[in-house]
Amino acid sequence: MSKIVILGAGISGHVAATHLRRKLSKEHEVVVVSPNSNYQWIPSNIWVGIGRMKSEKILFPLAPLYKKKGIGFKQAKAISFFPEGDMHEEQPYVLAEYVEGDNKGQQEKITYDYLINATGPKLNFEATEGLTPGENKTYSVCTYTHADHAWEGLNALIQEMKQGKKAKILIGTGHAKSTCQGAAFEYILNVEKELCRHNVRDMAEVTWIANEHKLGDFGMDGMLLSYGSMTMKSSEMVEMIFEDRDIKWIIGAGVHKIEDGLAHYENLDGEYKTETYDFAMLIPSFSGHGFKAYDKNKNDITEKLFKGFMIVDADYSPKPYEEWSVKDWPETYQNPSYKNIFAPGIAFAPPHAISKPRKSKNGTDISPAPPRTGMPSGITAKLVADNIIDSIKNGKESLDHKGSMGNMGAACIASAGYGITQGSGVSITTYPIVPDYEKYPKTQGRQLGKTFGEIGLAGHWLKLALHYAFIYKAKMRPFWWLIPE
Ligand SMILES: Cc1cc2nc3c(=O)[nH]c(=O)nc-3n(C[C@H](O)[C@H](O)[C@H](O)COP(=O)(O)OP(=O)(O)OC[C@H]3O[C@@H](n4cnc5c(N)ncnc54)[C@H](O)[C@@H]3O)c2cc1C
Repeated sequence: MSKIVILGAGISGHVAATHLRRKLSKEHEVVVVSPNSNYQWIPSNIWVGIGRMKSEKILFPLAPLYKKKGIGFKQAKAISFFPEGDMHEEQPYVLAEYVEGDNKGQQEKITYDYLINATGPKLNFEATEGLTPGENKTYSVCTYTHADHAWEGLNALIQEMKQGKKAKILIGTGHAKSTCQGAAFEYILNVEKELCRHNVRDMAEVTWIANEHKLGDFGMDGMLLSYGSMTMKSSEMVEMIFEDRDIKWIIGAGVHKIEDGLAHYENLDGEYKTETYDFAMLIPSFSGHGFKAYDKNKNDITEKLFKGFMIVDADYSPKPYEEWSVKDWPETYQNPSYKNIFAPGIAFAPPHAISKPRKSKNGTDISPAPPRTGMPSGITAKLVADNIIDSIKNGKESLDHKGSMGNMGAACIASAGYGITQGSGVSITTYPIVPDYEKYPKTQGRQLGKTFGEIGLAGHWLKLALHYAFIYKAKMRPFWWLIPE
């Protein structure tokens, strides 16, 4: 009998738990440890943040589902890792603290045979002075509570605009090394559309601010796209979209301080500037959770497990951009020191960025961290689960299931507007996520045809369809496993 403990019930933790439970007999224990009582389908937060979808539509409580399916659930947060156990506990364990209920505040040693760390990112708002969601007129859409709050702020401003107030809206990245440009891009398009719907578009100046050196970099070093019968750079496509919608842009900007209605940033030319706003949605930097790890004798071994995020089978040797290779990226998400620990989704430490690192003239790093979107989070979680299942069934380590971000695609479908006939979508599909300059030397490391852009209603339908399909799948409704990650 084996016990598999999964930390986190986001896209990757939940995917891993559901596949493990489906494929392993009931003699094996599957336990999820996560502080949030709900599952949330994060990509639909965009619609919550424009008031077009209630947050209840994108979440559901985990405990009843897990009870029904035979998955253990502890509403607790992991604090530290003991991969060798300790003097009193022979088994490896994670120390976790309950966050709800009668045992709130209590700590427990949760032992395991296999551990899946799927804790995603820490939303590191503190890294930018004054960037707290709901304060200083800045908001976030990274969680459903943030998105609810963002809509409150935006709606209040729309009502003021209806009374004749001119307003400035700023959307983008709130740190010199933030990632998730795709989510901010989607939000700015939705906000712009919503202003039109409320007949206040002419009252608002809408501005994009980002650490990208070029529009459409998206933390993926930009792309060469097939666009209809043409080939187009992602920067040209995004420029066209922004010009068409009268969205201004500030790029190469590292926001480092927020005051009430004032974003301070440094640009790649080394200039220190400010931008005023009445409403801002700025994505924070993402970091690891700051977990500690100890050996059997309580010596600190954190650097064996973490490098900010969790160390896996990547090549972490420092190299200049010119020597970066697609082969640096991990394939099994297994920790090299403790082979029964895995980290799929955002929880693993990437070997380096994907976009070319850039510094301002003052030496400040201003360029996006690598994005890790939903599809790879689901795929890596499933392959980790499959390797654990095979290892348990074969009685010996099996790592046949492999997948790197150098042979996986990502689809960023930025819906713009909500509704079956009113919405439209900008779909950008990239293959592979990490450019492979050996295989595709002439097309910026990507396969044209599988890397394409599209604008139109179909993209919006697809995004809506994905919302319903993935919530159906997450709820483990009949034949859920037939829906791909
Ligand atoms: C607004 C927005 C829109 C997006 N849109 C898209 C999109 O359209 N397409 C796309 O592909 N991707 C999109 N993404 C990215 C996508 O949401 C992420 O790639 C995905 O959620 C990552 O999954 P994860 O499981 O690794 O992390 P998460 O989903 O962040 O899950 C982490 C889990 O760990 C839990 N946790 C945290 N701390 C602890 C702890 N100490 N102990 C135990 N558990 C812990 C959390 O509560 C959570 O359950 C979007 C992201 C945002 C913010």
